[in-house]
Amino acid sequence: MPSTLVVGAGSAGCVLAARLSDDPAHTVLVLEAGTVWPGPADIPADLLDPGHLPVGPESAVLWRYAGNLVRGKLIGGSGAINGSYFVRPPAARFGDWNSDRWTFDALLPFFRDLETDLDHGTDPGHGTEGPIPVVRAADPTPFSADFAERCAAAGLREVADLNALDVTDGFGRVPLALSGNRRAGPGITHLYPVLDRPNLTVVGETTVTRLVMRGTRAVGVEWVRGHEYGRTDADRIVLCAGAVESAALLLRSGIGPERQLRALGIPVVRPAPVGTWCTDHPEIGIEFAGTDHGTSAVALEYVLEHGDLEFRPYTPMFTPGLRRVGVTLMRPTGSAELTLRRADPAVPAHIDQSGLVTSADRANLRSGVELACELFDLRFGPVDDHWLRANSGASQHLSGTCRMGPANDEQSVVDDLGRVHGIDGLSIVDLSVVPVPLPRGPQATVVTLAAAIAACYAV
Ligand SMILES: Cc1cc2nc3c(=O)[nH]c(=O)nc-3n(C[C@H](O)[C@H](O)[C@H](O)COP(=O)(O)OP(=O)(O)OC[C@H]3O[C@@H](n4cnc5c(N)ncnc54)[C@H](O)[C@@H]3O)c2cc1C
Repeated sequence: MPSTLVVGAGSAGCVLAARLSDDPAHTVLVLEAGTVWPGPADIPADLLDPGHLPVGPESAVLWRYAGNLVRGKLIGGSGAINGSYFVRPPAARFGDWNSDRWTFDALLPFFRDLETDLDHGTDPGHGTEGPIPVVRAADPTPFSADFAERCAAAGLREVADLNALDVTDGFGRVPLALSGNRRAGPGITHLYPVLDRPNLTVVGETTVTRLVMRGTRAVGVEWVRGHEYGRTDADRIVLCAGAVESAALLLRSGIGPERQLRALGIPVVRPAPVGTWCTDHPEIGIEFAGTDHGTSAVALEYVLEHGDLEFRPYTPMFTPGLRRVGVTLMRPTGSAELTLRRADPAVPAHIDQSGLVTSADRANLRSGVELACELFDLRFGPVDDHWLRANSGASQHLSGTCRMGPANDEQSVVDDLGRVHGIDGLSIVDLSVVPVPLPRGPQATVVTLAAAIAACYAV
């Protein structure tokens, strides 16, 4: 009987565990660091409210890192606390994933089968039977409506469906993963509905600290639960701990850049470029005064896609009393780096984003700020590098710390099924493995990839 230990019940972990446990002969154990409430009805109401991003200093459901980076620490992971924006990468901009297996066309059936698109379900490439409900704001706030009018007046194209197969640039209503007025995160859509399966066990409040290796085979994990320490062995371990923590677990277990591991006193099991490249969507925030903001249940109702830039007119829930437009670079040409500062699992990994935005990227962002100023009739001082830095923020979309690629590719850590090169019994299935900057927010892609890899594991 196959058995799999999944580390992390986040966006990818919920989907993977649900799909693998579809086979009653397959035993699946999930260890999650955050809370796993007994059922969806037990989840605190504010965590289900898409109008509330629980990312403030008081939030108890976060991993926190320097540079204001956060990740969700609860069932559903970051997908349980995010902005609900659920947009696929357009086929034409999907990028080369360094894999014959994963093209946009290969992932399309999984995108389709995951969703019930309540607005466009019967259109080509869409689904009406999937567990994730997708809707667009029916009654946008005055600010969002004003943004759309200004885009139209500037001659920009309106896009009816940003998840359409032939989507191109333009402005349109954001596809959102929502069930009525509640977040439809991966815990709700995938894991809770199957939690009573006898072959599936999900244990919360349990943080995996290290992999147990026998030579180059991963045979188990060490974990901590409150004051209790333990070890669990498994035939196969799949890390779904997200782009930061999956990489940190590899590094702490001796899989990573040799020099870094030696400096930290970690015995090297296998040299690998873990954390040496990663990416995000750098955002410049423009805030200005305005009246008649209205109220909204979600953070973002409209976006404008313009080349590699995405313009986000945030609804007032983000900046009460102010208007805020995010100008975001979706395909930066630089890269960030993730390293460990200590071998101690209690010390968070460090993410250095200083190399993410190159001078070409800054020029691109500057042109985006100029376009936003034209759209909103705004004028302010020179948009120089200093101004860009002072107004920059994080999209919280870190990806690519353990990139997929063939074994002979020096930059790759896993193969295209997430199996760690040179290590038996160990895979990664989460946003760590996506090897290119994603041209749209990552949520739709990460759950789709988990479903697609699960289908391959099941055969
Ligand atoms: C505030 C915020 C807003 C966002 N908004 C959007 C949006 O609107 N649209 C969009 O497309 N994307 C958005 N994102 C990004 C998106 O949510 C994430 O990229 C995506 O959820 C990542 O999925 P994942 O499976 O890789 O990791 P996660 O969903 O983060 O899951 C990782 C899971 O593993 C658990 N874990 C980690 N380490 C351990 C360990 N050692 N032991 C046990 N468990 C562990 C974590 O607690 C977590 O549950 C947002 C992210 C954040 C943080």
